Amino acid sequence: MARYRDPVCRLCRREGMKLFLKGERCHSDKCAIERRNVPPGQHGKDRRPRMLGYGLQLREKQKLRRIYGILEHQFRLYFEKAAGAKGITGEKLLELLERRLDNVFYRMGLATSRAQARQAVRHGHMQVNGRKVNIPSFLVKPGDVVEVRQGSRENAAILASREATGHQATPAWMEVDRENLRARITNVPQRADIAVPIQEQLIVELYSK
Ligand code: SF4
Repeated sequence: MARYRDPVCRLCRREGMKLFLKGERCHSDKCAIERRNVPPGQHGKDRRPRMLGYGLQLREKQKLRRIYGILEHQFRLYFEKAAGAKGITGEKLLELLERRLDNVFYRMGLATSRAQARQAVRHGHMQVNGRKVNIPSFLVKPGDVVEVRQGSRENAAILASREATGHQATPAWMEVDRENLRARITNVPQRADIAVPIQEQLIVELYSK
């Protein structure tokens, strides 16, 4: 599956806010938003245009896509799935993104960024209900047990991330056993439990045109 490979700090600069794409660096004074919060490109330091209507909707969609590291085509598929499901489309969209296995790994505090979590899943460090799963977009559901595989329990990057994310709160929809690198999904993620600074209604408006 394709993924974005260019510098990621410029994505934050484009949105004018921290999207937390680089792990520990995002919490340090090396963060590009702390140092140079202007849009990327030659005219970046000129006036930041005021966003209205379509521009606002587009930026909100890009922000959400970038937070979860999803390319346009796949994001559109998530939206269509959310639109076809029962419930509020914007909230369903967030729920689907949140249930991705790479995001679950990140929320468990075993990676400092979703990009790192995605790589860990791709490298086969995870299992769901006792079976190896190396697909970052795999969707977990209530009752699933997600854990680091036996052979990866001494993995230095995973253990270092666990140390570094000790302060991180556990989402209400999972029980995390950090000691044993394991989590049980207890609920479907609810909007109130998904800590992303997004106005999802704007994305629904964008795609409903
Ligand atoms: Fe964004 Fe993190 Fe880069 Fe800061 S360090 S600009 S939050 S990716």
